[in-house]
Amino acid sequence: CYRKGKTPRRPALKKTNNVEKDPVGVYCRIRPLGAEDEECCVEMISSSTIQLHAPDGLKANRNGEYKETQYSFTKVFGINTGQMELFEDVARPLVEDLIQCKNGLLFTYGVTGSGKTYTMTGSPGEGGLLPRSLDMLFNSIGPFQAKRFVFKPDDKNGIDIQSQVDALLERQKRDSQQSVPKTPSSRQKADLEFADMITPEESRKSKNIDEDCSYSVFVSYVEIYNNYIYDLLEDAQFDSVRPKPPQSRILREDQNHNMYVAGCTEVEVKSTEEAFEVFWKGQKKRRIANTQLNRESSRSHSVFTVKLAQAPLDADGDYILQDKNQVNVSQLCLVDLAGSERTSRTRAEGSRLREAGNINQSLMTLRTCMEILRENQMCGTNKMVPYRDSKVTHLFKNYFDGEGKVKMIVCVNPKADDYEETVLVMRFAEMTQEVEVARPVDRPIYHLAAGRRHRNQAFKDELSRRLEERGGPVNGGDSALMNQLIESLPALPPCELVDPTDDQTLPRLIEVLEQRHRIRQMMTEQVTHTANKVKFMLQQFDSQMSSKDTFVHDQQSKLNEKEKVILNQKTEIERLEKKSKTLEYKIDILQKTTEMYEQDKRSLQQELEGQEQMLQKELSERRRMEQRMQGVVTDTKLKWEKECERRVNAKQLEMQNKLWVKDEKLKQLKAIVTENSSGGSFPPEPPKKPERPSRERDHTMPQKRSASPTALPVSDFILKNHHNHSDHYCTSTPSTSSPYPSVASCISEWEQKFPIDSGSQSRLHGTPQNQNRTPAPGYSTNSVDRRRGQRWAPDTEAPTNDLDRNTVPPVRPTHRRSRSAGGEKWVDHKPASNLELDTVMQPIIPNAIKVSTPNEKALSKCHKYVLRHQELASDGEIETKLIKGDVFKTRGGGQAVQFTDIETLKQECPTAPRYNISLKYPGLIMLLRVFCSVSLQMYFGVLFMINKIEDSI
Ligand code: ADP
Ligand code: MG
Repeated sequence: CYRKGKTPRRPALKKTNNVEKDPVGVYCRIRPLGAEDEECCVEMISSSTIQLHAPDGLKANRNGEYKETQYSFTKVFGINTGQMELFEDVARPLVEDLIQCKNGLLFTYGVTGSGKTYTMTGSPGEGGLLPRSLDMLFNSIGPFQAKRFVFKPDDKNGIDIQSQVDALLERQKRDSQQSVPKTPSSRQKADLEFADMITPEESRKSKNIDEDCSYSVFVSYVEIYNNYIYDLLEDAQFDSVRPKPPQSRILREDQNHNMYVAGCTEVEVKSTEEAFEVFWKGQKKRRIANTQLNRESSRSHSVFTVKLAQAPLDADGDYILQDKNQVNVSQLCLVDLAGSERTSRTRAEGSRLREAGNINQSLMTLRTCMEILRENQMCGTNKMVPYRDSKVTHLFKNYFDGEGKVKMIVCVNPKADDYEETVLVMRFAEMTQEVEVARPVDRPIYHLAAGRRHRNQAFKDELSRRLEERGGPVNGGDSALMNQLIESLPALPPCELVDPTDDQTLPRLIEVLEQRHRIRQMMTEQVTHTANKVKFMLQQFDSQMSSKDTFVHDQQSKLNEKEKVILNQKTEIERLEKKSKTLEYKIDILQKTTEMYEQDKRSLQQELEGQEQMLQKELSERRRMEQRMQGVVTDTKLKWEKECERRVNAKQLEMQNKLWVKDEKLKQLKAIVTENSSGGSFPPEPPKKPERPSRERDHTMPQKRSASPTALPVSDFILKNHHNHSDHYCTSTPSTSSPYPSVASCISEWEQKFPIDSGSQSRLHGTPQNQNRTPAPGYSTNSVDRRRGQRWAPDTEAPTNDLDRNTVPPVRPTHRRSRSAGGEKWVDHKPASNLELDTVMQPIIPNAIKVSTPNEKALSKCHKYVLRHQELASDGEIETKLIKGDVFKTRGGGQAVQFTDIETLKQECPTAPRYNISLKYPGLIMLLRVFCSVSLQMYFGVLFMINKIEDSI
C-alpha cells in the first residue's frame, strides 16, 4: 500500500489558526525609460516606496485633479537594478526553498513592455530570473543527481521511483527510440544558449543541500492563452503544410488536492544547459504558434515549472531508497503573466478582441481572487474565492489555499502613456501585499544516519585504492582462502583414462565431483545462511538505528516545542517586566506624592497644634487676667469700702466728739447764762436734735425714725451698696446752718433695715424686701407703687407717687417747689463713662437737664434726679441702672438727693455661652472701666462729702 511519490504539494493543511503565514512579497521593478519616451511618471522615493506623477497631458485633461500618489512595496528596484541583484533578493530565496522541499510561485505582473519578460527570461548577457534559478539549482544538486529515469513522473502529478536496473533499461530503450541523436553540435547556432545568458562568475550555489539524497529535476512549460492551456514541450510533429491547432490541456486535481495540467510533458533535465535548452525549445514553439495562429504573445501567460524530486539514499549511501513514500517533490513556478492593460488599448477586433477579453478576464479573476482572499483573511469571513473562473488562478489555487511562498514582481514602465494602466497595476499590487499565504513546513528528517553518501564514497574510494595497490580484482585478495577451501574438498582421484573400457575411473570421478558439489552446496548454503544472518543483524541494527533516529527526532521536535514555549514565556516575562517596571514607577510617584501630602499634613497639624496651644495659652491668660482683675476689683472695692468706713467712722467720731464738746460748751454756756439770768433754775436742756424733714404722713412711722440712735439726718443719703460694685453717689449742696448726721450712721442704719443682697439688683417690686416692708398705714401699695418699686428711706416718710402725691423733702415746706408750677423736672445724670447701648428700651425723660457730672445749678432747678449707672452683670452683659432720687433743699440752702428707686435695664442674650471669650474680653474691659469710674466717683464723692461735712462743722 505504498503511496505514489509525493506530489508537488503536501496534503492540504487542516486550516488551523496557528498556521504561520507570510504576506505575498510584492516587489516593484522600474524599467528605464525608452529612447522615444520623454516624460517619466514614476519616481522611486525610497527603497520601498515609489511615487506616481500624472503626466502633463493627463493633468491638463483632468483639470489637474490627479495628485501624486505613493505606493509601498516589500522592495523597489530602480532603473539601475541589475538582473543579479534582483535575483539575489527575489528568486534566490525561492530556489533555496525549492531545495528544502518548499514550493514557490513567482510571477511578473505589469503592462506590456514594462519588462516582465526581461525580468523573467532576460536577454543575452543579462539573464533573467529563470536561467539564474536553474543555474543555482543545478550548481547545488549537481553531484547528487540521480541517474536518469530513476525518478519517473507518473501521470497523476506524482513521481515514481524505480531501481537502477529498470532505469538503465529504460534509458537504453529511449536511446534506441531517439531517431536523431541530440548533441550540442547538432544544435542550430541561431538558438540562444545558456552560456549567453549568465557568466560563470555569477553562478550561485546553495549551501543547504542534503548530500544523503538523490535529486532529479523536471521542467514543464505551458502557455495559457484565451483561457486554454497549451503544453509547450509537447513532442508533436508540426505539420507545416496543414497546421493543426495545438491540443489544449485540462487541469486536474491530484489526490492531494493540488492542481496540475493533465498529460503535460515533464522533461527530466540534468544540467542548466539542458534545462535552458528545453525552455528555449518551448519558447520557440510558442513564438511559432503565435505567428502561425496569429496570436498576440503579450496576451498569453507562460508558466515554467521546475519540479525537484529528491529521495534519501539507503543506509549504505549507495542506492536510492526504494520507497516512494520517501520521495519529496517541490516545485517552483515562474510565471510571465500577460500584459495587464485593458483591451481598448490594443485596438483588437473580432476574435482577437474576444480572446483579449478572456485574457483580461483571467487577470480580472486574479485580482478578484486576491481581493476576496484578503477580505477573508482580514475580516475573518469565509467567502468563496473564485479560483475556478480562470485557468491561471485555478492552477495556482493551492499556493493560496494551501502552503507555499508567493512573490510577485510588478514591472513598471515609467512612460506617460502607461500612466493610467500603471495606477491600476499599483492598486492591485498594494492589495496583493495584504494577502497572506501559509508558510511551508520544514521537510521531514530521514531516519537514517547522515553522511551516508560521503561514507560510501570514501569506502568505494578506499576499495579502489586498495585494488590498485594489489593490482587485481577484489577476489584476488582471497585466493589463499579459496585454495584452502579447495584443499578441504575431497581430493580428486586420478582421472587419466588409459583404457576405453575403463568403467571405474569416470564413475569415481563423478562420485568425487558430486561429493565436492554437495560440499560446495553446503558451503554456499552456509555462506548464504551466514550472510542472511549478518543481513538480518544489520537490518535489526538498522531498524534500531532508525527507531533511535525516530526517538531523537521526536525529542528534537519536543525540544523545539519546548523552545517555542520558552520563547513565548520569555516574551511574556519581558512584557510583564516592562509592565511591572511601569507599575513600580507609578508606585514610586504615588509614594512620593503621598510623602509630600503627609509632610504637608504634618506641618499643618503642627501649625494647628501651635495655634491651639496659643489659643489655650491665650484663654488661660485671659482667665488668669479675669481672675486677677476680679481679685483686684474685689480687693480694691473692699479696700475702699474699709477705707471709706474707716474714714467715715473716724469723721463721725470726730464730729460727734466735736458736737458733744460744742453741746457741752453750749450747755455750760447756757447754764452760765441761765445762772446769770435766772439763778440757774433751769435744768440744762439736752442738746436739741436737728429737725428732721417731715412729710405729710411722717407721724405714722415715729418708731422707725427714733430707731436712729444718732442725730437726725438732714437729708437722706441713700447709698446703694452692692456686693460687687455700686455707685456711691452723693450729691449735696453746701450747708452750714445745721449739723449733719454722720454718713456712716446713715449707711449702717440703712443696712440694718434693708440687708443688702443680690436681690436688690433685680426689679424691686415683688422682691421679698419690698413685700416684707410694712408700708405706711393708709398708704396703699397700689400697682403704680409696686411698679415703680420705690424704696423708702427708713427715716423719711414714704414718698408718694410723684404724680399723685408730693414727696416731702427733709426741709421746711416753704422750701419745697410747687409741683403744679411746672411738673417734674429731672436732672439726667449720665456719666461720661457710660456706653451707648443699642437697646430698644431707652430711658426717655422729658424736660430733663442732661448732665455728665454732678451740677449744683441743675440740681437747684429740678425736683428729680436720675443717675444712669452701668455695670457688668454676672453673665458679662452690661446692665444699666437708673438710680432715681428726689431733690431736696437743704437747710443750708443747698440741695440734697434722696435716692428712692432703682430701675434696671438689662440685655440678655438667649444663647450666649457663659464662657465666650470674645464676649468676656469686652466684658472685662467694661468691668475695668466701670470699676475705675465707680471707684473714682466713689472716691471723689466721699471726699466731696467729707469736705462738706467738715465745712458744715
Ligand atoms: P513585457 O514582457 O512586459 O511586455 P519586455 O520584457 O518584453 O516587456 O520588455 C520590453 C523591452 O524593454 C525589451 O526590449 C527589454 O529589453 C526592455 N527592458 C525591459 N525592462 C528593462 C530593464 N530593466 N532594463 C533594460 N531594458 C529593459
Ligand atoms: Mg513579455
